[in-house]
Amino acid sequence: MAQRQADILIAGGGSIGLSLAAAFADALGPDARIVIVDKESAQPAQGDDPRAYAIAAASQRLVASLEAWDDVAAHAEPVTSIDISDSSLGDAFRPRLLGYDNRVDDEVATYIVSEQALRGALLRAVAKRPGITLAAGSRIARVVLESGRAALELETGEVFVAPLLVAADGRGSMVRKAAGIKTIDWDYGQTGIVTTVGLVKPHGGCAVQHFLPAGPFAILPLPGNRACITWSETTARAREILAMDEAGFRRELEARFSARLGDIDSIGARASWPLKMHLARSFVAHRVALAGDAAHGVHPLAGQGLNLGLRDVAALVEVIADAARLGLDIGDISTLERYERWRRTDSVMSAFAFDALNRLFSNDSTVLRTIRNAGLGVVDRMPQLKDILVKEAAGLTGDVPRLLRGLPV
Ligand SMILES: Cc1cc2nc3c(=O)[nH]c(=O)nc-3n(C[C@H](O)[C@H](O)[C@H](O)COP(=O)(O)OP(=O)(O)OC[C@H]3O[C@@H](n4cnc5c(N)ncnc54)[C@H](O)[C@@H]3O)c2cc1C
Repeated sequence: MAQRQADILIAGGGSIGLSLAAAFADALGPDARIVIVDKESAQPAQGDDPRAYAIAAASQRLVASLEAWDDVAAHAEPVTSIDISDSSLGDAFRPRLLGYDNRVDDEVATYIVSEQALRGALLRAVAKRPGITLAAGSRIARVVLESGRAALELETGEVFVAPLLVAADGRGSMVRKAAGIKTIDWDYGQTGIVTTVGLVKPHGGCAVQHFLPAGPFAILPLPGNRACITWSETTARAREILAMDEAGFRRELEARFSARLGDIDSIGARASWPLKMHLARSFVAHRVALAGDAAHGVHPLAGQGLNLGLRDVAALVEVIADAARLGLDIGDISTLERYERWRRTDSVMSAFAFDALNRLFSNDSTVLRTIRNAGLGVVDRMPQLKDILVKEAAGLTGDVPRLLRGLPV
């Protein structure tokens, strides 16, 4: 079969691959030929992924710059406040140890958006850009990297070639392996249980994080007075909980919830993910750049995995657009190293910070709990420090790429 020439190939059409394609198309102009390959169909699956993401303000700006936010907004809940508690499983009350107003200069710092709403909006954003070819339902069979070009051979027999291949093919990235990039891996021995609940009492836009000995239990507000529960348990216990009938599952859920938040009205489908950290030893190779989970996977306790990936998107698009304007080879390692310098330190520091938080909180040590509670209490009485933490979580600190500042590339 004939080879099809493109300017940029993107392996993986998850949220990161789709955002990359739309942002590249906008930055490089209508003549740029961008190809995304994904093994899944181009229809967002209904109901089989109950995850909802905490989308930081900076990420929201990026989605808005792709003209996809209006599509997401009806399904997005602004988080106006965050409550944090630290207690044992048997405690009848989960008192709030740290609470803060989740706004930066009157702008909401985080939105909760379901995976389905985000992916659906990004698929529509991609479909509106004629320079993008989405090869959906096509598994990559082989990745070929040569000095002058990269090629993706699909199981359908189609072959695409381009000077740059971006790996957005997730945690097990085939492209990363083909480029010979190794990872640092860490298994938390935890499983993330996710479900959606309907609430009786209005949540008022409040997100809750209960630190419990087996792992954090997050209640993320959704429109329609629903909430996404993202709940980390030891893997053995998670297996037992996931196998329970509805009444048993409800009992476990209610034991971790908080009486203060009122009753749970309904419980939706359950899903689970093994929780592991991984970091690619390099984010680039000749002709290859890694983005999103292909480059890093972090503990979901801070709700930052996708946000880190969207920061990769904004930085990579800016680096490639600058190089293209200067007439440089966009897949050359010297071009891609600027992206590596921009994104790797932030990703490494974030991954280890979330790892440390998980270790500090996921235990039942009385000594550690006393220290933690004293620390959280101190932070709770320092409004300026809380403002800094909110700004950091909103992705608005450091060397922020243009798309995350709401500026065109
Ligand atoms: C329980 C849980 C809760 C989370 N909560 C949050 C949160 O609140 N906030 C947040 O920011 N992040 C959160 N995350 C992290 C977030 O889900 C990921 O960081 C994000 O989805 C990664 O997107 P991606 O596009 O890089 O990878 P993926 O979503 O994994 O997409 C990879 C794509 O590549 C395709 N693909 C893979 N291999 C091939 C192949 N050989 N051929 C063709 N296609 C291929 C796949 O079909 C897939 O579509 C959470 C994660 C978990 C597990």
